[in-house]
Amino acid sequence: MIIAERKPLPEVLGMLDGSNEILVLGCRSCTAICLAGGEKESKAVCEAIALHSELKGKGWKVDTLTVERACENEFLTPLYEFKGTVVSMACGVGAQVVQDLCPEAIVVPGVNTSNMGAPEGMGVFAEKCAGCGDCIIHLTAGICPIARCAKSLLNGPCGGSQNGLCEVSKDTPCAWDQIVKALERQGRLDLLNINIPPKDWRPSRNGGPRRIVNQEALPGSAQKEWRGEK
Ligand code: SF4
Ligand code: SF4
Repeated sequence: MIIAERKPLPEVLGMLDGSNEILVLGCRSCTAICLAGGEKESKAVCEAIALHSELKGKGWKVDTLTVERACENEFLTPLYEFKGTVVSMACGVGAQVVQDLCPEAIVVPGVNTSNMGAPEGMGVFAEKCAGCGDCIIHLTAGICPIARCAKSLLNGPCGGSQNGLCEVSKDTPCAWDQIVKALERQGRLDLLNINIPPKDWRPSRNGGPRRIVNQEALPGSAQKEWRGEK
């Protein structure tokens, strides 16, 4: 899932000057799970904006709507004609899909999108994948050294690993310590003899905006063309 956190309210309010109609748009997917931009949080932001408008005499018309997934057009039909300001409580992907769909609206971010991760405990979310585009976790016991090692080391641990912790903070486990222990548990310590070569970063962000085409989803003729058939 995509992890995000709510922007401070004063920052959001600062983006709304010049608005008339404001829609706080929540998402029931990732940002709801990480308690940043679901229905409950969106209602709270909507109420706070409405209160601010009343207190400061802004005259804003404020409403809220929470959709199933803000990153898919099919869930955004209620917004097609919207021309006001959208406070997006969805991740940066959802916010941009909404902006594409409603070119006359002004989309402002209500959350800061951080990373791809997973819940680790009540209200705690940790980064797990950096979307490098060339996954190697079969060599690292299913633990990503790119996202979870502070130095993204492909061969570790480094000298900063102490008692299972990373030198960056006493709260941060050393990913390579975890990898070594997991490989030991799995009886695959021999994998540590493999010197993982420098990574080919071309499938990562270095290549610009990425696009994945699922060939199975293409129409028949396009699939044939992809397979080199006449
Ligand atoms: S190796 Fe790359 S694709 Fe695999 S989990 Fe790590 S960042 Fe994600
Ligand atoms: S201590 Fe561990 S997690 Fe931290 S930078 Fe070194 S190898 Fe990576």
